[in-house]
Amino acid sequence: MVEKQRSALKSVFALSPFHIFDDNYVMAFNKLAGLQFSIVDIFRFSLLGFYEHFLGEEHRSSLLRDILARRSIKAKMPLLSKLKSMQQWRHCRLCVEDDEKQFGVAYWHVGHQLPTTNMCHKHSEQTLISGCYRCGWNNTDLRKHPLPSNTCPECEHELVALHNQQTNAANQSIQQLGLDLYYESPLPLRSKPRRQMLRSVEHAFGDTIRTRNQEYWKTKLQIENEFRLWTLENQIASYFDIKSEAELNTMLCLDSIINSPLKVTPMAHIIWLVFFNQIGQPNYAGLSLVS
Ligand SMILES: [Zn+2]
Ligand SMILES: [Zn+2]
Repeated sequence: MVEKQRSALKSVFALSPFHIFDDNYVMAFNKLAGLQFSIVDIFRFSLLGFYEHFLGEEHRSSLLRDILARRSIKAKMPLLSKLKSMQQWRHCRLCVEDDEKQFGVAYWHVGHQLPTTNMCHKHSEQTLISGCYRCGWNNTDLRKHPLPSNTCPECEHELVALHNQQTNAANQSIQQLGLDLYYESPLPLRSKPRRQMLRSVEHAFGDTIRTRNQEYWKTKLQIENEFRLWTLENQIASYFDIKSEAELNTMLCLDSIINSPLKVTPMAHIIWLVFFNQIGQPNYAGLSLVS
């Protein structure tokens, strides 16, 4: 069975986690199981459940039509290549052990591949593993190593997390919001209310402006400075593959989020919302839900 899965994965899965977000999944599902998966499964077993919150309305409906018609999916996200999480496949040691015990084979968990994730969502003390610190091997190609393992395929040492990633309230909130979005993915279930992720930062910013009794430009400058300090304190740069602080600031630019929400990385929306939440501005969970 494992061999059958391996060969199916080899034939359809692509090089890097970038491709977790494309229609190879649909093909893989049908091939692996020999039956048609439901549309909910497609969202649950790929990053679509997370990323669909950041699609424009038109794109969202055309995506749904394409999936239902089993056509190929086009759902590009801006700046995915700048996310560290997109460069290697990640796993948790204890999840691999649990999966092997329970199913006989370990598998990749979508929750571990979310760009918001640092630690395992089931084993909160476990930093995720993306490669081997002894020989420098990284799992970037599922065709060579389709299943997660706790042993390095190159040097055969045990894979361990390099160091315990520092986690703080900001990391935890970012991770939680990412998981919430993924679990709540409502696209296939239209009757449920869904978060207005693309407009949430604008709403939180507007509320902040209204609460501080001073000129608009002054408040805006204040908030942007507070945000910059907050990103430094909380090592927000560690989520990205960037060369300078200036690059980070451009990627998380408040004006861009408000003026062209579809063109910024989904992480920018999430990071700003967590920031607003931590400085006491409206709770995104309540504010952004609409029926
Ligand atoms: Zn785990
Ligand atoms: Zn190694």
